[in-house]
Amino acid sequence: PVVGGRRSGGVRTCRNVVAPEQPASVDRKNLEWTPGSWREMPVRQVPDYPDKEKLEDVEEQIRRVLPLVFSGEVERLKSQLAKAAAGKHFVLQGGDCAESFEEFEKYGGDNIRDTFTLLIQMSIAMMYGLKKPVVKIGRMAGQFAKPRSSPMEKAKNQELELPSYRGDMINGPEFTLEARVPDPDRMIRALNQSTATINLLRALASGGYLDLHKVHDINLQFVNGTPQGQQFLDYANNITNAIAFMGSCGLPTDSPDVRQAEFYVSHEALLLPYEEAMTRYDKNTGKHYATSGHFIWLGDRTRQPNGAHVEFLRGIANPIGIKCGPTLSRDDLLELLEILDPNNEPGRITLINRVGAGKVWDHLPRHIETIKEEGRNVLWVCDAMHGNTESSPSGYKTRRFENVLSEVKEFFEVHKAMGTYPGGIHLEMTGQNVTECVGGMMELDHEDLFQRYESQCDPRLNASQALELAFLVSEMMTK
Ligand code: PEP
Ligand code: MN
Repeated sequence: PVVGGRRSGGVRTCRNVVAPEQPASVDRKNLEWTPGSWREMPVRQVPDYPDKEKLEDVEEQIRRVLPLVFSGEVERLKSQLAKAAAGKHFVLQGGDCAESFEEFEKYGGDNIRDTFTLLIQMSIAMMYGLKKPVVKIGRMAGQFAKPRSSPMEKAKNQELELPSYRGDMINGPEFTLEARVPDPDRMIRALNQSTATINLLRALASGGYLDLHKVHDINLQFVNGTPQGQQFLDYANNITNAIAFMGSCGLPTDSPDVRQAEFYVSHEALLLPYEEAMTRYDKNTGKHYATSGHFIWLGDRTRQPNGAHVEFLRGIANPIGIKCGPTLSRDDLLELLEILDPNNEPGRITLINRVGAGKVWDHLPRHIETIKEEGRNVLWVCDAMHGNTESSPSGYKTRRFENVLSEVKEFFEVHKAMGTYPGGIHLEMTGQNVTECVGGMMELDHEDLFQRYESQCDPRLNASQALELAFLVSEMMTK
């Protein structure tokens, strides 16, 4: 069997794993959309697989698997997002920067359950403060492929350069040339892990695990005894009392809403051969859906209006996100909306702003103006992570809790000033008690990062930091 690609002349050369951008761009007006029409457009960040035969074989296998998500759920999420855009709901989107094969084996599902539990706790804290339903979306069950700023990377304190790690779905994190060769079989493994993950999430969301009657039980061990854990218990007591009061007034407290959670999954639509193979036509709606996740987003590095990723997304009916980094221009934003949402469909577009603390006032107001002028219907979400990554003196990639919080604060301030609705937050976080971001009530320091740094990619808020943020957001929103 071929493992890790072909050798050229017996010697494996250290090559860039990403295909060079194709020069001539196609005029989209003459291009009929199909799940594979993206192949006509210049593509970034998608690996150039050395073993093309194996790639085709894997694509064929994936075309034949059952969908992970179904059109009814996807349309339902779109209607929830439309409500969030209209100011009636709030969105909480969170999970790993990148899911990993290693964590999945190591934790046997505990990490998935814990992140799910944490998202539910955060949503309860936020619902209680906001008095609005919170739409819960995991960066889970498909969040494997990573865009990278540089095609090559050096190991810590080493001179040797290798092709960058691009997520477990593409290549391996180990610092060897062998591991960095893109391997199509990794798509199958990621798909199997996603299937198991969504199965567990569905069980957790519907299995009575979530019963608001038992809100006290929804707790994670290590936030017990912390100030946030105590605050959550206070909220939980209030919720229990409110439900008891409703019951004593003769109001129904047994509706499914109290006992189950709606939970959705999302990921960046980066690895187009996989996304194409997971696309299915739905006879009932007459539309194509990406069945790899309910919500998928366009990354900040792949949002060229004339690029392959935009071409793929324009033809699928799922709700989609657009990451809006500091370089997003007015023209590009308008063109993207024209291509991706020609009918201005409510719930279709979520603009995920990610510019960094201290910079929200520099960028967000102009985008809000543009949207207002054009009468566009979008949901505004704040990704408070990706503009706030820095290197710690200890050599780790980290983020400061205070910067994450500031970015959210500025996001709320701008919307307040402009009379628009800040509809949600997007976080990299885990239910595990990792040490990847500094700060927070537990005052994690740069020197503490080595203790439990597990992310292969970006640093995540740990459970206590994430819960603290949820309480602070809840407070901010009620002011
Ligand atoms: C991400 O969400 O993990 C990511 C890479 O984001 P962005 O495209 O905004 O940099
Ligand atoms: Mn990330």
